[in-house]
Amino acid sequence: MPTRHGMFRAIGYAGRAGTPEQIALVHGDPSGDDVLVRVHSECLTGEAFGSIHCECGEQLDSALRAIVAEGAGVVTYLRGHEGRGIGLLPKLKAMRLQETGLDTVEANLALGLPVDARDYRVAAEILRDLGITSVRLLSNNPEKVSELERHGIRVSERVPLLVPVNSSNVRYLRAKRERLDHLLPQLDEVPHETA
Ligand SMILES: [Zn+2]
Repeated sequence: MPTRHGMFRAIGYAGRAGTPEQIALVHGDPSGDDVLVRVHSECLTGEAFGSIHCECGEQLDSALRAIVAEGAGVVTYLRGHEGRGIGLLPKLKAMRLQETGLDTVEANLALGLPVDARDYRVAAEILRDLGITSVRLLSNNPEKVSELERHGIRVSERVPLLVPVNSSNVRYLRAKRERLDHLLPQLDEVPHETA
């Protein structure tokens, strides 16, 4: 599949009963150790529509670019992960609540939903199917590292994927850092009053 970032093989995976179909984008020959990998949670609003409420679209673009620059690597695009696993319509409701001043964590909780319901087992299964047992993971999220390791994929390095801060995403990024322990050092450069 030609993309604006380069050429990828698109490999589809049927889901188990009741789970979504999945897709992996593979560039070059990524088998072996320490493969550059992005385990990306789907975000229709950020990726298809270019919403800058979150940084998902920019992270996906950066990951694809980094993998092409590397010469080989994989993006597992995880369907069923909208809104950290709560689903698309609840995510839209949570975005609405964030307009009233709640942060992304408080909004999920106000809806009676988990802060993070994502399961990474299928990502580990896809990586194993591609012959990959250890990865350099493009992520700012320590939980993705621990979850992949729990499912048997060794993470030899975490590679930051830092999207520039803007007035639309600053509150969301701060909540991710302060409440979800994401590693976002670019926020150090932003004075608090620009929120
Ligand atoms: Zn998003």
